[in-house]
Amino acid sequence: MSELILPTYQDVEAAAQRIAGFVHKTPVITSTTANKEFGGELFFKCENFQRMGAFKFRGAFNALSLLSSEQKKAGVIAFSSGNHAQGIALAAQLLHIPATILMPNDAPAVKVAATQGYGATVIRFDRYKEDREVLCQQLAAQQGLTIIPPYDHPDIIAGQGTAAKELIEEVGELDALFVCLGGGGLLSGCAIATRKLSPNCQIYGVEPLAGNDAQQSFRRGEIVHIDTPKTIADGAQTQHLGNYTFAVIKNKVDDIFTVTDEQLIDRMKFYAERMKIIVEPTGCLSYAAALAHKEQFQGKRVGIIVSGGNVDIQHFAQLVS
Ligand SMILES: *Cc1c(COP(=O)(O)O)cnc(C)c1O
Repeated sequence: MSELILPTYQDVEAAAQRIAGFVHKTPVITSTTANKEFGGELFFKCENFQRMGAFKFRGAFNALSLLSSEQKKAGVIAFSSGNHAQGIALAAQLLHIPATILMPNDAPAVKVAATQGYGATVIRFDRYKEDREVLCQQLAAQQGLTIIPPYDHPDIIAGQGTAAKELIEEVGELDALFVCLGGGGLLSGCAIATRKLSPNCQIYGVEPLAGNDAQQSFRRGEIVHIDTPKTIADGAQTQHLGNYTFAVIKNKVDDIFTVTDEQLIDRMKFYAERMKIIVEPTGCLSYAAALAHKEQFQGKRVGIIVSGGNVDIQHFAQLVS
């Protein structure tokens, strides 16, 4: 494999300029109740308030902006369990690029409807039987489309990193940052930004216990592949890290934690009841892990990336009841 050229802080800065005016600068919220329970100061970066409801729009808009005019004209294709699909669909609509999205049959209805609503063509597949990457490559080759991967791409990583950049620029340096982790695009981008803007900050990725491939990879020093994990965190059902994301995570992240679905549900309830925000299960990973390890962070300033809020309201009601 040829040497990877990893994204740098300059790429995150350039992405921030490129997406300004198109991407929301999301609010950072605090809660006295949350701080008391935790024993430190928590800063929640609310990407559930991002356009299309998750941070994915940042990377998508950055990556699509950087395509050549030929690539833009021919169109793009992406595969996603949901939020990357919506991010690409919305960014493509704004940039007048035709978009095709491969989505699993069991993707949440709200995510499928939203993707179609942004004007993308949706093609469904069975994620337990078909290899979405192979399917995607076939369609791309047949139709001349550019594949935009959900996380393993320097322009995606740089775009996602703007979330941590905004957080630290708003609240100042942090002692620790917790980031939800699927394929690691968000975590690697945030780690690049945080290492620059808050060099002494501890950086933690958080994934579902059922799908702890990144934790295994981090500890073994090589990318570990697993079967599609069964977890309510549908945005983190990835089977492996990418080459770019692993290379960044390996060097810039301090550790990777896991949490159970029960811990996610507990935080979903807390977000809704106490903080009045709707957070999807995957978006609860970061807070659940911070709380579980709170002894290490007493009196500390801790950033929590709340990654998204896209969840069917019936599904949400089922989970929290
Ligand atoms: C995609 C997604 C994640 C995981 O992001 P990666 O870049 O794949 O690690 C976490 N939370 C939400 C809400 C997502 O949509």
